Amino acid sequence: MMQAPLEANDMQTGWLDSATAGFDYLIVGAGFAGSVLAERLARDAGKRVLVVDRRPHIGGNAYDRYDDAGVLIHPYGPHIFHTNSRDVFDYLSRFTAWRPYQHRVLASVDGQLLPIPINVDTVNRLYGLNLTAFQVEEFFASVAEPVEKVKTSEDVVVSKVGRDLYNKFFRGYTRKQWGLDPSELDASVTARVPTRTNRDDRYFADTYQAMPMHGYTRMFEAMLDHPNIKVMLNTDYREIQDFIPWQHMIYTGPVDAFFDYRYGKLPYRSLEFVHETHATEQFQAVGTVNYPNDYAYTRISEFKHITGQTHAQTSVVYEYPRAEGDPYYPVPRPENAELYRRYAQDVQNTPNVTFVGRLATYRYYNMDQVVAQALATYQKLLGGAAAETADTRSEVGSR
Ligand SMILES: Cc1cc2nc3c(=O)[nH]c(=O)nc-3n(C[C@H](O)[C@H](O)[C@H](O)COP(=O)(O)OP(=O)(O)OC[C@H]3O[C@@H](n4cnc5c(N)ncnc54)[C@H](O)[C@@H]3O)c2cc1C
Repeated sequence: MMQAPLEANDMQTGWLDSATAGFDYLIVGAGFAGSVLAERLARDAGKRVLVVDRRPHIGGNAYDRYDDAGVLIHPYGPHIFHTNSRDVFDYLSRFTAWRPYQHRVLASVDGQLLPIPINVDTVNRLYGLNLTAFQVEEFFASVAEPVEKVKTSEDVVVSKVGRDLYNKFFRGYTRKQWGLDPSELDASVTARVPTRTNRDDRYFADTYQAMPMHGYTRMFEAMLDHPNIKVMLNTDYREIQDFIPWQHMIYTGPVDAFFDYRYGKLPYRSLEFVHETHATEQFQAVGTVNYPNDYAYTRISEFKHITGQTHAQTSVVYEYPRAEGDPYYPVPRPENAELYRRYAQDVQNTPNVTFVGRLATYRYYNMDQVVAQALATYQKLLGGAAAETADTRSEVGSR
């Protein structure tokens, strides 16, 4: 039987009595980072774990649910699982079966829907050419702009495919997404999107590309289904940290919030998701269509492509980038990395708390990277736990 996630109100009524002995770990956040660590600590190491999330659900940003029409949607935007790590894939396979899925994205440019990442078909259809793979390499070389040292997101693209493709596919999209020109952003942002000289139109090239067969939330439920794991939702950890005994905290929320923004706020880019259901079986040809140059939204994703669900209706999500709102993307600029380094110093000086995950380490991580980071953190914690003495264990509830 699946253990029902606990609501904040359950605290008054029952399980807390049996928990007065305290928890070995207080885990803040029930996303990938928090859930992987909870699972390992409880199932593998026999620790007692309390997982707290201020949202009304588990899964963090990867949470999925059925909408009013009965279509499985991702409320926090489309999440496509892909990894080159066999360890990560094998680990998650303990909690879910998979449905093979290769994501495809088209970009709406000059009145056409063209494959992105840019490949030989993108170039041929945009310019009305008939180049071979070899010729397109020559084409890129002829239009590429020499850049002495690639530093910014603009440098990455113009040095590979020239200014016209940069302007049509990257400049507008990046300006919308980040509210900054690519010339003001680290190279890492656009370096994530490769350029291809073949006809491969898959968005990702990873070895493992698949979606959890019954969705992410079912997978998280299976991870957290253990008698040593208690889950408390709708609860900020600050509300309970001083009166539920715990020995070590694993924190997966924003690192600047943990330290009360003492050096100022770390800049994040946010998104507003506008969900729609349409009375038609299919809305668009592929999982995601990007709109680099038109409209206020960056892209539209249609979930049935991604989940494989069959349904007479279909649900889509529009993404509108925002300066304010939930923290989604750390803004990769040197001054922000510098500000993060100040918080990272304080992290080093907070021995009773381990910081894991995308927000706690102020890094753009994909889901598989967060799983890998959490598994590595577990190994480190185990090493530390072996050395733990009865004395340090008595520091209940302190930071
Ligand atoms: C729009 C979008 C699309 C994405 N698409 C993909 C994709 O296609 N493929 C991919 O691999 N990755 C994708 N990602 C990245 C993916 O979402 C993350 O890698 C992953 O969710 C990070 O897991 P996490 O546990 O570190 O953080 P989160 O999932 O953010 O979990 C942190 C949790 O901590 C909780 N929390 C924070 N503060 C507190 C507090 N004070 N008290 C209690 N709880 C707290 C939050 O409520 C949250 O649930 C995408 C991200 C976004 C924003």
